[in-house]
Amino acid sequence: MNNLAHNSISRFKELVNTASKVVIVSHTHPDGDALGCASAMFHFLNSTLRKDAVFLVEKEISSTLEFILKGVRRTDDVAVLETCDLVIALDFNRLSRTAPGFEDALQRCRATKILVDHHLNPCLEEFDLVFSEIQVSSASELLFWILRKVQGDSLKGLSKPALTALMCGMTTDTNNFANSVWPTTLEMASQLLAAGVDRDDIIRRIFNSYRSARVKAFGYLLNNCLAIRDGYSYIIISREFKRKFGIREGELEGLVNVPLSIGKIKISITLTEDDGFYRISLRSKRGIKVNRLAAECFHGGGHEQASGGRLYPGSDIPSREDLPSYIEECTARFLHSEKNRI
Ligand code: 5GP
Ligand code: MN
Repeated sequence: MNNLAHNSISRFKELVNTASKVVIVSHTHPDGDALGCASAMFHFLNSTLRKDAVFLVEKEISSTLEFILKGVRRTDDVAVLETCDLVIALDFNRLSRTAPGFEDALQRCRATKILVDHHLNPCLEEFDLVFSEIQVSSASELLFWILRKVQGDSLKGLSKPALTALMCGMTTDTNNFANSVWPTTLEMASQLLAAGVDRDDIIRRIFNSYRSARVKAFGYLLNNCLAIRDGYSYIIISREFKRKFGIREGELEGLVNVPLSIGKIKISITLTEDDGFYRISLRSKRGIKVNRLAAECFHGGGHEQASGGRLYPGSDIPSREDLPSYIEECTARFLHSEKNRI
């Protein structure tokens, strides 16, 4: 990973040093990585460089991840894009991955745009400077190495909140070192620990601070709604269910990983009802590139073992009742074709 081009780093320094108003943006339904690198970027701009910066982010954020944004100036008003001279986009590969309403405003925005991301196929036309690396755990890790280079191969000058936010982002995207761990990931973790980041506190906040509603909902869904098929499983979560169990934004994060603990399950899928569509989460064991399934059947994409997308009843399928047959048809066909590929 450590081959960040010298001229890209110089350009990055020049752009942030000359900017007076910076808007930071990440993908819709921000996860720990999105919030971690956005927060770190804010603290870098604000505390280290004394810049005017703001994080443009939707209002509703997972309550267990809120702590990552402590001290971060934020807004959900796209008007900030009219007066800024630099946009820094983090943890997504094209503007269509931003929250509803943000994409158009970002397309219209004439400010210089920098991208820092770890997904395949970044949309190069949408950005002026691109840092794209897929052999890293997370956008937070990539940003860690960028900021370290910018600071002259040192963490000096980076504040504790910035370093802590980067550890949060990497920890959530690797699911606490369970996947996408590269040698550089452990180097990063080691340097952050040495710099005094409190990992125990991060673990407590991220993994051990849930409300009981989440645990009860997990129990119910795994017991009553988990469909186990030949090599894959899926769970459909309706709005009605979330209402009944009092489930909030982001509170079922991680559920999709659980069925993968069954030996014979190679792909785990969750379908969560949203406003007129279903959000799809896909996870797979090594060897199965689930981002292909996301692209082929769910208008989505992502990483080889962790992807997502959407499904629209009324256009993709006649109605909600057709969800199980659509999922089963697509996934069985996909697994069959994967078998032929291997
Ligand atoms: P999650 O299941 O945690 O929501 O998403 C897992 C990964 O899938 C994300 O990190 C992102 O890379 C990708 N992803 C999720 N939703 C979408 C989507 O709607 N479109 C695309 N292209 N990728 C998505
Ligand atoms: Mn990420």
